[in-house]
Amino acid sequence: MVESLAKRSLRKVTPYAADSKIKGIPLDANENRNLAFKLNDKIAEAIMALDISRYPDPEAKVLKKKIAADNWINEECVIVGSGSDQLILMMIQAFINEGDKIVTPAPTFSMYGISNGIAGGETIQVDMGEFFSFDFYKFIKRVNKEEPKLIFISNPNNPTGGMVDREHIIKLLENFKGIVVIDEAYYEFSGRTVMDLVPYYPKLVVLRTLSKAYGLAGARVGYGVASKEIIGILKKVKPPYNLSVLDQQAAIICLQNKEIFQPSIEEILEERLWLTKALGSFPGVEVFNSYGNFLLIRLKGAKELYNYLQSKGIFIRHFNEGGSLANCLRVTVGTKEENRAFIGSLKEWM
Ligand code: PMP
Repeated sequence: MVESLAKRSLRKVTPYAADSKIKGIPLDANENRNLAFKLNDKIAEAIMALDISRYPDPEAKVLKKKIAADNWINEECVIVGSGSDQLILMMIQAFINEGDKIVTPAPTFSMYGISNGIAGGETIQVDMGEFFSFDFYKFIKRVNKEEPKLIFISNPNNPTGGMVDREHIIKLLENFKGIVVIDEAYYEFSGRTVMDLVPYYPKLVVLRTLSKAYGLAGARVGYGVASKEIIGILKKVKPPYNLSVLDQQAAIICLQNKEIFQPSIEEILEERLWLTKALGSFPGVEVFNSYGNFLLIRLKGAKELYNYLQSKGIFIRHFNEGGSLANCLRVTVGTKEENRAFIGSLKEWM
């Protein structure tokens, strides 16, 4: 089964010369391939109509208008980035000077610390313990002590899958002078958002991406929503042509056809439940409840399992950093077939 799936992936996935994943089942990057290529024809048709000799619209007006309308927000409160990775970097470039601090819960998405490091900022990671549940009082105590310029919260949290409650985000916004960035890259799988709070809290920034639920990781499109003041500052560090005409067009087509994605999101939620139960039935495997399209597990011999799966053409994520992530692996919720292939190989390894 694994071999036949691998062959199918080989046909479906665009071949990158340097990409060893090409021969396998990629469950390592939280992409959504369940609906792969359903919109390719429409995207291709729209791209054919573009004049690629012209520079893209630096304001990405059509795309921003769609995002603003979908989120009931003023267009001046929206900014687009080449993936939300670029928006994270832009937040740091705009607000962090050498020696300034950011605070994040730990473990979390690595790009906050990486981007901050490039700017010479200091990253304070507040350890959320071995069960990864968000400890608000520990977090706010540290925030008050460190007085950071920015707080980054991945909600749901990559890689643990947990969430910070809305009430705690509101308390943070009301008790902290700096900017709170809520990264909702996996929003479509959690159904929980604080986007509606943006008009009330001028220091709240919400980040979203089309790389996950909308299956557009290859095009690189993310967006940020915040007060006009914050967006105005971000515009000063935004490279004018950060989104190509192709990126913008692909994103517009995706957002205009949102309904196409709904069944696949629902399937991922069903599969997340199936995988959670299947993984939990193995003795010695700890599974963490997830609101994203991925699951974190902890088990003895995680690195060996990771290597074994790789030898079978199944790619998942292993963490080298140790600490509470020691012996942890993160697996993307894939298609039904991919998830069964993964569990089948896990059974063989056990
Ligand atoms: N935020 C989080 C929490 C993520 O997990 C990721 C992708 N791994 C990103 C942001 C960046 O996504 P992209 O740059 O593809 O929009």
